[in-house]
Order: sequence, then C-alpha cells, then structure tokens
Amino acid sequence: MNDPRVFLTTCATPGWDSYEAEPVTAAAVRAASGVQFVPTVRGGVQAEWADVEVEFDAEGRVVDVVVDRPRPWAGKDKNPAYEPTSDEARLSYLVEEAGEMLAAAGKTLRYGLASYNPEPGSSGETNAAWLTRELADLKLAIELVERYTL
Ligand SMILES: [Mg+2]
Repeated sequence: MNDPRVFLTTCATPGWDSYEAEPVTAAAVRAASGVQFVPTVRGGVQAEWADVEVEFDAEGRVVDVVVDRPRPWAGKDKNPAYEPTSDEARLSYLVEEAGEMLAAAGKTLRYGLASYNPEPGSSGETNAAWLTRELADLKLAIELVERYTL
C-alpha cells in the first residue's frame, strides 16, 4: 500500500479498518509522500522527509535516524523549487553564493558599511545588510555541501 492513490481510494472513508478508523486525508498522504533520496558518499542512501532523516548503508541497513532535524533549505525564506538537490547543483550554488558574498564585501570595502546603491530602482539596502544577507546565503551553501555532498 505504498501508492498514495491506494491510500486515498481505500482509506478515505470512515471505518476503512472495519472498526472506527478515521479517514486518511489527502493532506496527510501528500505530506508523507514527499520523500527525497540523497546518495551518500559511502554507497548508501539517505531518505529525508519533513524533519526526519533515515540513512541506509550500502548493504541497505539503517545506520542513522534523525528526527526533528530541519533541512537547511527549509525555513530560510527560500523557494523550495530552487533547492539544489544534486552534488553539481549544490556546488554551483556554493560558487554562486561565494561570488555574491565577494561582490558585497568588495562594495563594502570600497564604499563602507552604511553606503548603498544610489542608482534609481535600487532597494536602498545598505552594504552592511547586503553583506549580512550574502554571508547567510554562503553559510547555507556551505552547510548543503558539507551535509549532502561531502
Ligand atoms: Mg546570495
């Protein structure tokens, strides 16, 4: 019964267990179906969903279970669609964010922490705020590479 459609067709009515079971909801099935598989460098696989991680070694044995460990990307005001989920994507994101941090640090060195882009249409964000934001992005990129790629 691993197909979510099976849950919704067989367990969506009250009493689906021949007793007094409550119906399984589409929201619950959707939440439970969002498993992401990440390869490990030791030949295993880490399955992740919600705030749970289960790591399987190369022989398929469970070697680690972590509950309530939020994914680095989650809760960071980042669009889930842009989460880098492959080694190449994570390394690309790391390089991109390192470049953005260098740009912010360079402008800060040149014009100071309180300065901002005076061009029309710019956000008015100070260099200090820009550098803070880019450092946070770079820390996230480093965490993703350390946790999932290395
Ligand atoms: Mg950035």
